[in-house]
Amino acid sequence: MLIKPKKSLGQNFLIDKNIISKIVSVSEIENKDVLEIGPGTGNLTKSILKKKPNNLFLVEKDKRLFDQLQIKFNENVKMINQDILKVNEKSISKKKLIVFGNLPYNISTEIICNWVIKLDKDFWFSELILMFQKEVADRIISQINTSNYGRLSVLLNWKMKINKLFDIGPNCFFPKPKVDSSVLHFIPKKSYFPIKKSKNLEMITRVFFNHRRKMIKNPLKQLFINFEEISNKLKLDLKLRPQNLSLETYCKIVREYENLVS
Ligand code: SAM
Repeated sequence: MLIKPKKSLGQNFLIDKNIISKIVSVSEIENKDVLEIGPGTGNLTKSILKKKPNNLFLVEKDKRLFDQLQIKFNENVKMINQDILKVNEKSISKKKLIVFGNLPYNISTEIICNWVIKLDKDFWFSELILMFQKEVADRIISQINTSNYGRLSVLLNWKMKINKLFDIGPNCFFPKPKVDSSVLHFIPKKSYFPIKKSKNLEMITRVFFNHRRKMIKNPLKQLFINFEEISNKLKLDLKLRPQNLSLETYCKIVREYENLVS
């Protein structure tokens, strides 16, 4: 039975076999535990299965697609009919998961932020191979001193090594989306700048990037009574803008903040 795609669930199904094959070849998945988010009609799922994972877990919110997937893949996969934003990913497998997802674009940043930033302990995954709207992917991987550089780049690059793999045009999907897409590969860094609570990095970057055209003197003043002392210590030029500060500098500002409040 043909199911009418739901726009509200971001249902643009991948139909290009070359792209599907490129995505599943990014990582060695034989004998590994794999999780796919939003398998939809199962095109990517079928190719993942051919690579013989140890276990394949699927999380699909749409009950109509979930029922079809159950018939299609029977006992080869473990299916979860839930909203990924409500799933406790840590309970899915004892092993670290390789995660694939042609993510629903309206919640893609929320999903990745939940996984990468909100977590203060160990990661439950070993790598993430995820598709985003190209414009969002460009913001995630953008470099300091560029107009795309912002909160998302600072927050996600803190603990992750992120590579852009390739772009995908609208013709590779059904129905065709209005935008281009990009596939990103995330691998947890072995070491990263230690801060006590990730929510402090979220807060500090929010304060800075809320006014991205203003000089950094303003957010520093808002955060620290002794802002001149802090800026001298960190050798900050108060005339710089938020996009001119590196990830390391943001982490150092968080450290000063944490010293102050703890
Ligand atoms: N992976 C399939 C493909 O590439 O053809 C489908 C990708 S489609 C862009 C997004 C999929 O995520 C849809 O199947 C949709 O029903 C599902 N989805 C949307 N919101 C979801 C949510 N909150 N939790 C889990 N799945 C969701």
